[in-house]
Amino acid sequence: MEPPAFDLSGIATPAYVVDLGLLRRNLEKLAHVQQQADCTILLALKGFSMFSTFPLVRQYLRGCCASGIHEALLAHEEFQGEVHVYAPAFKPEEMQRLLPISHHLSFNSPAQWQRYRPVLEAWRAQHGRAPSPGLRVNPEHSEVEVALYDPCSPGCRLGTRAAALEGHDLSGLEGLHFHALCEQNSDVLERMLQAVEARFSHLLRQVRWVNMGGGHHITRADYDIDRLIRVVQGFKSRWPGVQVYLEPGEAVALNTGWLIASVLDIVGAPGDEANPPTAILDTSATAHMPDTLEMPYRPHVIGSGQPGEFPHTYQLGGLTCLAGDVIHRYSFPEPLQLGQKLVFTDMAHYTMVKTTMFNGVPHPDIATFDPATDRYQVVRRFGYEDFKRRLS
Ligand SMILES: *Cc1c(COP(=O)(O)O)cnc(C)c1O
Repeated sequence: MEPPAFDLSGIATPAYVVDLGLLRRNLEKLAHVQQQADCTILLALKGFSMFSTFPLVRQYLRGCCASGIHEALLAHEEFQGEVHVYAPAFKPEEMQRLLPISHHLSFNSPAQWQRYRPVLEAWRAQHGRAPSPGLRVNPEHSEVEVALYDPCSPGCRLGTRAAALEGHDLSGLEGLHFHALCEQNSDVLERMLQAVEARFSHLLRQVRWVNMGGGHHITRADYDIDRLIRVVQGFKSRWPGVQVYLEPGEAVALNTGWLIASVLDIVGAPGDEANPPTAILDTSATAHMPDTLEMPYRPHVIGSGQPGEFPHTYQLGGLTCLAGDVIHRYSFPEPLQLGQKLVFTDMAHYTMVKTTMFNGVPHPDIATFDPATDRYQVVRRFGYEDFKRRLS
């Protein structure tokens, strides 16, 4: 991902900065897919919920997918498009709040569907409309390498397996939902669909919509968009009249934002070959970019190389007191200076939505940069009160 096109010297850190021009570029790609494949693409809030950008996102996408009551409310309030909700289980009191604002509700099990079917029918009788019910299935086709992110791993609770559907009354279901990809290309979707069609043809004959979940890395440079279009078109020709939805999160915000941090101190014993010095930054791996520890992965820092590639190698460390709050090793052509700003790339998705205020570490600003107006704008700044409000 390219370096920021604005002057870093004047900005306060830490800050998540989304470039609205880059976000628009992603949205244009997604709009192309929607138009060519005749499908609907929703924003998965789980990956990217920066609602100040929704006026832009809604120029291209028709709505959001939410994984529960709070995301559904956010979609309803801030996006104002279609609200599609799935949750591993719903509570009755949540259902009452979801009914008036949801367009599609995907249930995780036939038991959840049976439990809420009368509630939906009563709502429809009273209001003349109700969310369209669907069932999330588990295609049992696994191509995700990291078990933490594999919804088809053995025993996974997400979605119902074909064998577990036997003997259940599935009448009334209008949709089929599956989410079984993670950062994958369209060849994986093609094979996934073969598994879905082999196992769930009885349900596919009945439904009027199919939601193919997220995990489609559509905006990545090497993603085969033409194949995606062919695959969706092929599916639609085999199942005429079925409306197709995709709900990527990561692909919407992929390579659209940075996390910018400052060097506060440099510690470590000189001459310790095995352990390079640590630059302590005003951010945190565990609090502000938890996927670097969970996934785990090594984010790129602009101007840096692998350890030893350039003459000056450092470990980058966070502000919490967790010993493991470090963000890998990086080398730089020049020694790092106190106050120097470091730019972590691709920090828009699965960051702001996953942060914590662990250890009271000051929270990054949420900011935008608009290349059309050359304007850097802090949308939200957090302080001590935000930390305190989550405790009591
Ligand atoms: C996580 C998730 C998504 C979005 O996945 P991405 O990998 O961010 O594209 C979509 N739908 C469901 C049900 C999810 O759990």
